[in-house]
Amino acid sequence: MSAIRVRFAPSPTGPLHIGGVRTALYNYLFARRHGGTFILRIEDTDSQRYVEGAEKYITDSLKWCGIEVDEGVGVGGPHEPYRQSERRAIYLQYARQLVQSGNAYYSFDSAESLDKLRAEAEARGEVFAYDHSVRDGLDNSLKLTAEEVQARMDRGDQWVVRFKMPVGEEVVMQDLIRGEVRVNSSTLDDKVLYKSADGLPTYHLANIVDDHLMEITHVIRGEEWLPSLPLHVLLYRAFGWSDSQPQFAHLPLLLKPTGQGKLSKRDGDKMGFPVFPLRWVSPTGEISRGYREDGYFPEAFINMLALLGWNPGTEQEIFSMDELIRDFSLERVGKSGARFSPDKAKWFNAQYLHAKPDEELAAMYRPELLAKGIDIPMEKITQIIGLIKSRATFVNEFWELSSFFFEAPQEYDPKAVQKFWNGDNPGRIKELYALLEQADDFTAGALHDKVAAWIEDKGYPMGQVMNCLRLALVGASKGPDLFEIVSFIGKEQTLSRIAKALEVLAN
Ligand code: GLU
Repeated sequence: MSAIRVRFAPSPTGPLHIGGVRTALYNYLFARRHGGTFILRIEDTDSQRYVEGAEKYITDSLKWCGIEVDEGVGVGGPHEPYRQSERRAIYLQYARQLVQSGNAYYSFDSAESLDKLRAEAEARGEVFAYDHSVRDGLDNSLKLTAEEVQARMDRGDQWVVRFKMPVGEEVVMQDLIRGEVRVNSSTLDDKVLYKSADGLPTYHLANIVDDHLMEITHVIRGEEWLPSLPLHVLLYRAFGWSDSQPQFAHLPLLLKPTGQGKLSKRDGDKMGFPVFPLRWVSPTGEISRGYREDGYFPEAFINMLALLGWNPGTEQEIFSMDELIRDFSLERVGKSGARFSPDKAKWFNAQYLHAKPDEELAAMYRPELLAKGIDIPMEKITQIIGLIKSRATFVNEFWELSSFFFEAPQEYDPKAVQKFWNGDNPGRIKELYALLEQADDFTAGALHDKVAAWIEDKGYPMGQVMNCLRLALVGASKGPDLFEIVSFIGKEQTLSRIAKALEVLAN
């Protein structure tokens, strides 16, 4: 078997949806798993839908995800160029070849005349299709002589090349995920393959020609392309390339969190999660949020995506890229849609965050502290991280989880005040103030022992007193170990916060 060659072939029509990233990822994993080549080809032949900046967005996204391109746009390789708009000279000869072999024809029908046919069909409650049932009556080379065709081209008439879909043929296709797929060719229309107006091929022609020329062995792409497969298979046959035709694998859709329908940008906007890897600012200034900017680690994002459609057959959920490469197989990609879960995405990030060394997280947190004018040694930050990280999902939550290490609470959670700051408790806190004022050893362990002994000696309710102290120091009844906080902020700050709480909460 020849070496595995796969391609990710996005069209630069906007930001890359996470479904597209998953397609790239599966291609990449498949290539790496088999020692093959992962190619990036940009399919930019639809000038109408071209969006400025989209190609850069695609390459930036792949880079952020750690998906390395072996060959293609931005990297080069033996089949350059890899941007279809730069390959335009290649496609016309192939379109002509199909006309000459009787598999395609020139059509001169104007956009207006086709619009009219569409409108008439609609009025009859039908949908117009340029297919075997109508093509003989339309303005195309099927009924013109070669001289007539040439004369019309010479006089400057615009034309397209259309595929001449066979009639009544059962097209049998093999899909690595779906198994055998059959379609009767009579249900398919005569797709446009090439347009003289812009001198560009359509997706179908360029895609097949390039997959052939680039010696692609496996086409792994989204399910939305399955309806194009019969045409593609027939194109391979028409070119005489069936023997070297790639194998196909159509990936299941990414579904909305409800499981109903395809995951869209609107779902993300509505439910507050990104559907794009990176933030995207459209040419008109519309902003779409990205996983990167929301604080996701690329490893967590990739791990989450890998499991949306593929399952390892075990209970394992956390996979590094190397583990994914080791374990990935198309056989374990499911047929049915994969439901996206925003909560699960967060869960993955939390797992990665909790597993990261405190020093690494401290280095990520430091710039935010510096921006707030807090310049403390790395080991102090590291210590804080160790105390708070189990409660965090994102690095951008660190401040909220640790601000009390640096500043006294501005407010006290009213619910906690009502629950704990009552009865004898303020008096007990006053006593605790005196106790701490006498303490010399402010290490967490020593403080704990001292205070616990005092509470026991007095017979005070431990939970009540501790929650009041927490309220005074943190402003709420949650947070990491209290004595770690006391030890970190030190005696002076501890006493001043207790004094302030006694004063403010007395009123
Ligand atoms: N350009 C197509 C896309 O944007 C490629 C589909 C394919 O992989 O054949 O998804």
